[in-house]
This record gives sequence, C-alpha cells and structure tokens, in this order.
Amino acid sequence: MAIEFDTIAAISTPPGEGGIGIVRLSGDEALEIAEKVYKLGNKRLSDQPSHTIHYGNIYHPKTNEKIDEVMVTIMRGPKTYTREDIIEINTHGGVHVTNKVLQTVLGAGARLAEPGEFTKRAFLNGRIDLSQAEAVMDVIRAKTDKAMHNAISQLDGNLSQLIKNLRQEILETLAQVEVNIDYPEYDDVEEMTSQLLLEKAGEVKNHVERILETAQQGKILRDGLATAIIGRPNVGKSSLLNMFVRSDKAIVTDIAGTTRDVIEEFVNVKGVPLRLIDTAGIRETEDEVERIGVIRSKKEIEQAELVLLIFDQSQELTDEDFELLELTENKERLIILNKMDLIQKLDVDKLLEKVDPNSVISVSITENTGINEVENAIVDLFFEGKTGEKDATYISNIRHISLLEQSIQSLEEVIEGIELGMPVDLVQIDLTRAWDLLGEVTGDSIQDELITQLFSQFCLGK
Ligand code: GDP
Ligand code: ZN
Repeated sequence: MAIEFDTIAAISTPPGEGGIGIVRLSGDEALEIAEKVYKLGNKRLSDQPSHTIHYGNIYHPKTNEKIDEVMVTIMRGPKTYTREDIIEINTHGGVHVTNKVLQTVLGAGARLAEPGEFTKRAFLNGRIDLSQAEAVMDVIRAKTDKAMHNAISQLDGNLSQLIKNLRQEILETLAQVEVNIDYPEYDDVEEMTSQLLLEKAGEVKNHVERILETAQQGKILRDGLATAIIGRPNVGKSSLLNMFVRSDKAIVTDIAGTTRDVIEEFVNVKGVPLRLIDTAGIRETEDEVERIGVIRSKKEIEQAELVLLIFDQSQELTDEDFELLELTENKERLIILNKMDLIQKLDVDKLLEKVDPNSVISVSITENTGINEVENAIVDLFFEGKTGEKDATYISNIRHISLLEQSIQSLEEVIEGIELGMPVDLVQIDLTRAWDLLGEVTGDSIQDELITQLFSQFCLGK
C-alpha cells in the first residue's frame, strides 16, 4: 500500500573522493528513469528480476555523451528501504562523476531528494515508525559500538514496543471506563471507575519513569560525555590525552549538517564516548603557563559533565591545586594522582580530608599503570558498572524525553483529579492526552510539520 510519490534521487555516499559513489533513486518511475540513461547492448533493465545487479554504462539521454561505467542495482518494492522501487547506480567514486550521473537522472525525470527523504518515505509507507526513523539517524552518527548498539536496538523497535504496550494499556483502561459509564445502574460504578483509573495511571506512570531513567545514559551514548582534563602545568594532561589518542581510541568526528557543525574529538572509554573539551588547548604545550590560568579552567569546568583533575604526586599540593579542587567540588570528577613511578611528595592524607577516597586513583601515565582503573571508574560513575548490559534500551532522543516527561505530567493530573474527586469524564481527558503524547514518540499521532522538520535533520541521500 505504498502512497503515491514522485521519484526522488540523491547521492547516498558521503561527499568527497571514495572507492565508489552511489546515486540512489526511489519511486514508481525509478526503473523507467534508469532505463533512459543506462545502456548495454540490447539489455533492458525492466526485464531483469528484482534484487539483481547489472554492469553497464550511463549515457546522457539527449547528447548521448558517455558519462560513466557503472553497476546498477534493481530493487523492486515493497521489499526495499522505502518500500518503493529503488535503483542504485554505483559510479566511479569521483565527486564530479557521481554528480554528473545524478544530474543525468535528474534530467531524465527524477527530482532531487530532500535530506532524509528516503527514510521519510520508509516511515510514510509504514515500513518503520518514527522512533525507528530517528534511530537511523543515530546509527549514522554513532560514535562507539555501544552507542551504535543502542541505536540499532531502537531501530529494531524496542522502544516502540514498550511504548505500544503502554498505549494499549491506556486504551483498554479508557474502554473499560466507557463501559462502566454506560452501565450506571450497577452499584459503586463511580467508585470502581475511579479506582481503576487511579491504579492504571499509576502503573503506566511507573513504567514511563523507568524508561526515562535511562535517558541520562542514553544522552551520553549519543552525544558523548563532555569531559575536561584539568590540572596545573606539567602534571600530565597532554600525556593523558595522547595516551587516549595513541591507543587508537580517539575518534575525530566532523558532524556535518548538524547543529554543532564543528570538529570534535571523542575517545572511546569502554564504550562510553568522552567528548573532550578544549583538546586544542591541551595539545598546545608551548604557552602552558598562560593557558592554564584558573579562569580558563573555570570555563572548561563549567561546560564539563566529567572532570578529570590531575595532580603530580611527586610534588606537594599547591594553592592552585586546592583552588581546582574547590572549583570542581560539585562536578562528577576523578582525581588522578599521576607520576606514581616517581618518589611521592604529595600528602595523600591531607587530600583525602577534602575528597571522596573512591574518586582518587593513582596512575603513571608514562608507564601506563592505573589507566584501566581510571576507565572503569568513568564507566561506574555514569553507568554504575552496567555498560555491559547489551540489551538495555537507552532512550536518548530529546524529543522522546520531552514527550515522556509530558505524559508523566498528564498521568499525574489523572491521579490528582481522582484524589480530588473530579468527575471521571474530566479525568479521562488527561488520560487520553497521555495516550496521545506517547503516540507521538512512535509517530502514531503526530502533525505533518513535525515530520517534515524531523526528517530534514537527516543527511542527504538517506
Ligand atoms: P601537561 O602540562 O599537564 O599537559 O603535562 P604533560 O603531559 O605535558 O607532561 C609534563 C611532563 O611530565 C612530560 O615531560 C611528561 O613526559 C611527564 N610525565 C607525564 N606523565 C608522567 C608519569 O606518569 N611519570 C613521569 N615520570 N613523568 C610523566
Ligand atoms: Zn599540556
């Protein structure tokens, strides 16, 4: 039951040079358009079976200029990404060639796709629901295996299933309430109905709260944990950063087309992506004294969700160290006592008067000792040691979080209403609202504009 659409086309591979480039078409006329530009002897693409790939050439349909030697994949709907007919033309990966092939199919009748339009069609054609569509975006952007796993599990529909069950629960309750109201001749019907509403609203609310509890973790997996490496000059900040980077844990991402649009550095710590604040500052070692001014640290600390505060334990603690301790007091922090390979001068007892002993870890960065403990401590701080749980679904999307929070509010209004003895039909309105809000997560009740806006965040060609 695909809805009728025009045929769209876009380059689906990332911009730039690559081994191959893919121009993708989707829509009723995808095959027809491909046939106008494809040639290999007398071979006709429309005679070929679905889900097959064909060697050939792309020619300009009017000038007959040969544009590229290609492989063309034919996938007829509905067993495709969009449920429509899809053609994928694999070109030689140059930017110019791929663009030219795209222009040629556009000239032959396809329309240039908007960002995310392929996925939008998958949604509109009912192949995936909205939370799954959003997961596609997260899979594309995932920074660690764990983040990827989370997105994929959402793509599988884990979250959707949870939400659907809750909506079903609400729907059944609403239906039961209707029935009760229709048979007012029974005794105690008011009382029973109120009791039912109270119970069910409470149950659903508990469920939603439990889903929301995973939100903080989900956000970390998705966006990375903003992390500041702080300490006096020469304590080992650059060394720690370099160690993360050298051990091949660094991922430099250029998140194009997103709100951030900057190059950020991530390191993968046992599945937790740390988004490092001001790595440029840590890297530039020349002007160390100037840059480590407490004011600068202050700014980094403010932005940070996690502070790695490094001390040099071969030296006594200074006023500046104590100042940094104070500045980071209310942050999630680990205190790293570096250079344990040298003779210890730092007064640990004095330090422990000021800080939680569990947050203090001795290491030698140059000798690579204690680093594993640091990594475990980071995981424990934010996941209470639970990152190993492969099948947990972490909710991570801000839109979902906000909808779930609003639905909790509506459910609380149901509970309050009953407790205040409000008429059942008024309470029903709040319960219905909770049902609607939950439906927005999966896209079962959602306005057109919102859909357009959501899909426009995708990359081109997806
Ligand atoms: P930053 O100024 O805080 O970035 O400190 P650096 O990372 O540049 O390190 C300053 C000096 O301390 C360098 O010479 C490092 O080699 C040295 N260093 C770093 N970690 C250790 C360690 O664990 N043991 C010893 N002995 N030296 C270290
Ligand atoms: Zn440095």
